[in-house]
Amino acid sequence: MKIKYLGTGAAEGIPAIFCECDICEEAKRLGGKNIRTRSQALIDGKILIDFPPDSFYHMIEHQVNLSNIQYLLITHEHSDHLYLGDLEMRKKPFAHFKTYEKPLTVFAHGESYRIIKEYVEKHKLAETRRVLVQEIQPNIWFNIEDYEIMPLRANHPSAKTPVMYLIKHKDKVMLYAHDTSYFLDESFSILTDNNIVLDLISLDCTSALLKNYRGTHMSLDVNLALLEHLRELRIITDKTTVVVNHFSHNGLANYDTLVEVTKPYGIIVSYDGLEVAF
Ligand SMILES: [Zn+2]
Ligand SMILES: [Zn+2]
Ligand SMILES: [Zn+2]
Repeated sequence: MKIKYLGTGAAEGIPAIFCECDICEEAKRLGGKNIRTRSQALIDGKILIDFPPDSFYHMIEHQVNLSNIQYLLITHEHSDHLYLGDLEMRKKPFAHFKTYEKPLTVFAHGESYRIIKEYVEKHKLAETRRVLVQEIQPNIWFNIEDYEIMPLRANHPSAKTPVMYLIKHKDKVMLYAHDTSYFLDESFSILTDNNIVLDLISLDCTSALLKNYRGTHMSLDVNLALLEHLRELRIITDKTTVVVNHFSHNGLANYDTLVEVTKPYGIIVSYDGLEVAF
């Protein structure tokens, strides 16, 4: 499997849209991997995770043919993960398809499902088969082609019904865990009950260098504690690829500092455009 990180920032991005803090000023000065657009990922060039306002820019910058993408997983309703306004751009006359009318199916749970369904109905996106929406439930597997996917409840109290995604393809399995704090107890039992041994885990590290941050996101030290527990439960092993992602300027570190502090743990620090094959 392959995950491509199209965007790796938190809601406000780095540099944050209206910010003059030292981290943002440094990011502006250094550019490159320090610039983080809002989080979005693409699995095997086929399954898109989340739909931030930067999807338009990701389409250009990373040459993603969004008209060909037929599957979109939504983690939760926050605007950096679900920017509804651009979904309408898939209808006529905003979008023309060369071959056939490929619908984009959006998979979502709870509040995200409710607001997407309302939007899709309002703009007649389903009846023109431009955007379809499918409701999914936490802890229940569903299929996209030969991928098996299970949403797990995320610990992200600022959203109503946030989920993380467990994605299995052939003999590989990954967990996309954004946005979330330290996992809920039920997640550990679901992972062990399903005999999951992760090949890749992508962890929320919004609050990077803060100490013991367990609000709606995680700091790096909480990531390390979580990884330790997952290792004890044999959900991860020495072979698991660990990526930390979804950074905010309030985590007080730009890319080079993050690489330095994570080096002893063999953790990959995400950046916009990073591709990880596993
Ligand atoms: Zn977010
Ligand atoms: Zn800032
Ligand atoms: Zn969020």
